[in-house]
Amino acid sequence: MTSNIFQDIKDRVDLKDLVRYYGLEVDRGGFACCPFHNERHPSFKVYEDHYHCFGCGEHGDHVDFVQKLYGLTNIEAAKKISHDLGLGLDNGELAIPVKSRILKPQKDEAFLLWLDESVHTLIEYKKLLQYWEKIYNPRSPIDKVNDRYLESINKRGYTEYYLDKLLYGNEYEQRQCYEIDRDYPLRIKKRLDELDAVSRKAPKHAK
Ligand SMILES: [Zn+2]
Repeated sequence: MTSNIFQDIKDRVDLKDLVRYYGLEVDRGGFACCPFHNERHPSFKVYEDHYHCFGCGEHGDHVDFVQKLYGLTNIEAAKKISHDLGLGLDNGELAIPVKSRILKPQKDEAFLLWLDESVHTLIEYKKLLQYWEKIYNPRSPIDKVNDRYLESINKRGYTEYYLDKLLYGNEYEQRQCYEIDRDYPLRIKKRLDELDAVSRKAPKHAK
């Protein structure tokens, strides 16, 4: 594990998923209503690695967003992200324990635990697939197709669809996932655990 928690967060979480996790509704064009100034029409644009508000000029990356939203220092914000999304980057020292938005106490506990865990797992897996798709993309038609590239092609659509339902769907849609295919995030969790053992990004450093 590298020591740069800030870079690790960027590598492992899509900024759009992060801002959605903290309650923003991002439209298809990547715009949301800005949480830093009052507005009714979205002028807060979320890019791959940064955001910019065309209304008030707020600008930043993953950690900046959480730092400003919750009034934290940057290291507190990084720890909070790691904690909330279950990234395990904070060495167990947790500065700011804040419950995730998704856990609501009055509902069925097994379902809520499943939901919380599934969101963490799929956010992480989706980002990993995007990364694999980029670095293992065959350079020419005669290249042997990499297994990780195939996995990203095969799994990305369903993973994104499923995650969208969990992050954006109403409770009915979330429960549909739970009833119909609740094992999917569990299988992905297993897959991520296997990959941890062989290091997910090993080839990046090896090449
Ligand atoms: Zn703004």
